[in-house]
Amino acid sequence: MSNQVPIHEGLFTWPSAKPQLLGSRCVNCAETAFPAQPDCRNCGSRETTIVELGDQGILWSWTIQTFMPKAPYKSDETAETFQPYGVGYVEMPGGVRVESRLLPNKPEDLQIGMPMKLDIIPFRTDGTDGSGDQIMTFRFSPVKEA
Ligand SMILES: [Zn+2]
Repeated sequence: MSNQVPIHEGLFTWPSAKPQLLGSRCVNCAETAFPAQPDCRNCGSRETTIVELGDQGILWSWTIQTFMPKAPYKSDETAETFQPYGVGYVEMPGGVRVESRLLPNKPEDLQIGMPMKLDIIPFRTDGTDGSGDQIMTFRFSPVKEA
């Protein structure tokens, strides 16, 4: 029985019924960062607090990754099984822009300014025999019109 573990601690609230991204906010000037930073890049203050960034944002820019990234990129894919994926920046309610994988991998499915929501997904399995922990990462996909 393998466990599901986040790809990094402190990136998102998980496990959770409604996962949210976690960032940091400067106590001094309110600059928000993702991933969370111990120092403020705006004013240099060393006082930051962890804040929930929410689970929805707006697509700010995007591209399609059409070839397998070079090492240290690690996934269960090989050059033969690699599938293109969307990657882009999603602007969260506080204004911070988050680099993320995107679910659609077709240009016609992505549009700057469209609302996006957070998903937590299995990314790869640790170990070579597939019995290791399932590594979880985050991704954004378009909010479905109701
Ligand atoms: Zn600051």
